[in-house]
Order: sequence, then structure tokens, then C-alpha cells
Amino acid sequence: MIGIDAGHHNSDSGAVRVSKGIKEVDLNRAVIKFLKQELAQRGIIYIECIGSIHQKANIANANNCSIYVSVHHNAGGGEGTETFHCPNSSEGAKLAKAIHSEVVKVSGLKDRGIKQKKFTVLTKTKMPATLIELGFMDSNDFDEIIKTDFQNRCAGAICRGICNYFGVDKQEVDMESCVYTDNDVDARIGSYLSEKKGIPLIVNSLPAFTSNKVYAIGLNAVTKCKGKFKVVVELSGKDRFETAKKVMGEI
Ligand SMILES: [Zn+2]
Repeated sequence: MIGIDAGHHNSDSGAVRVSKGIKEVDLNRAVIKFLKQELAQRGIIYIECIGSIHQKANIANANNCSIYVSVHHNAGGGEGTETFHCPNSSEGAKLAKAIHSEVVKVSGLKDRGIKQKKFTVLTKTKMPATLIELGFMDSNDFDEIIKTDFQNRCAGAICRGICNYFGVDKQEVDMESCVYTDNDVDARIGSYLSEKKGIPLIVNSLPAFTSNKVYAIGLNAVTKCKGKFKVVVELSGKDRFETAKKVMGEI
């Protein structure tokens, strides 16, 4: 499973850049939305790491993610795409190179190269990690990075870069069991269950993968999983409290 992250969060508004009424976090999320579709189509299991930068790193570590990819947009008056990895991480450098080289082929923006910096999500995550700054919000890049087509193209390129890093077209996934939910609220208790059982947590889109047993949290998740898995453990109550009680009953 890989960890993905739309840079920033509602609560860290101090770091969120705004240009012409558009927030960086919203651009990051737009790309991540397309990236999730690309990954799901290729059967790559992912978890979207949500929260503060420390929470994001903790989620990736708790789920034993094989890699971590953080998507950002830049500011400060430059132009182009640049990709970061942690200093002295050779695997991080390999991952950054795999993704960066694909993105600059399609972004149409200046290639600013691959750089090293001790961003928290790069230093606190235990797996090879990279942070990509797709373009600048306060330069001519802006007209491009707000386009849906640009976001979709870059998401496709990031996915190809991930596949190239692993050296496969499609990551073969065959898990015995997993936890699944389709929303971020239930994902919090889902991450607790996944940690206790030592099995992956899948959030939002149900990827194309094979698994014998799924712990489905919430009614939507139960409905989506029925018929697709041999065993569906239905963890859904009449409200969130009852659902949470059922999840705790599995621990
Ligand atoms: Zn950022």
C-alpha cells in the first residue's frame, strides 16, 4: 500500500497559499482526486493520509506504506515543477526521479529539477518519500495549474512514475483481508482497526483488487463490498456511535 497526501490541511492555514481566491490545498486536492482514480484503475492500493503533517506521517507509518507521495503547489515568484526528497535518502531520490521525470514530460512547465529538503512529511515517514511542487501559484504557471486537464495529466504522470519506481505496470495485489470505508470520518476508527489487526485500510474509492475478507465500516461501504468479497464483516449501525461500537467489538 502506498501513502498519498494532498499537501496542507484546513487547520494549517498558515502554510496554505492563496492566489486569486484559490487556495493551494484545493489545487492539491484536485490532483489527488485524479491520482486516486489512476491508482484504483491500476489496482494499486493507497491510503490518503489526512490531518496535520505529523498525523499524515503517522498514518503512513502505522499502515506500513511502501512509499509516500505528497502533492503541492509552489509560491514565491518562480516558474516550473520541482520535486523533493529527504537528504541522504537514496530510495527517496529514486522515487522523486521516477515521478518528476514523468510529470515534466506532460506538465508543459519549466523543469526546476530534483531537490533535497527536510520537509516534515519526508523526515517523519519511515518509507521512501517524495514531495512534488507542480507549479507556482503566483507566476504565469497559475493559468495552467488551475486547469482540470493539467491536473488530470499530472495525476496520470505521477501514477506512471509510481509504477516505474516499482518496476511494474500494475502492482499485483492479493491481500488476505482489509478494512474499507468510503468516508474520512469512519476512516479514523478504521485506521485503529487496521492497526490492531495489522491489515491495510482502504478509504474512498474501492480499488480493483482481490481480497478474501473485508471489514466494511458504514452502510455505504457494506453495500459496495457485498458480492465483491468472500467475507464481508458488516460494521454498520444506525448512527456513527453504534458503528464505532461494532468496530470496537472486532478489536
Ligand atoms: Zn504546499
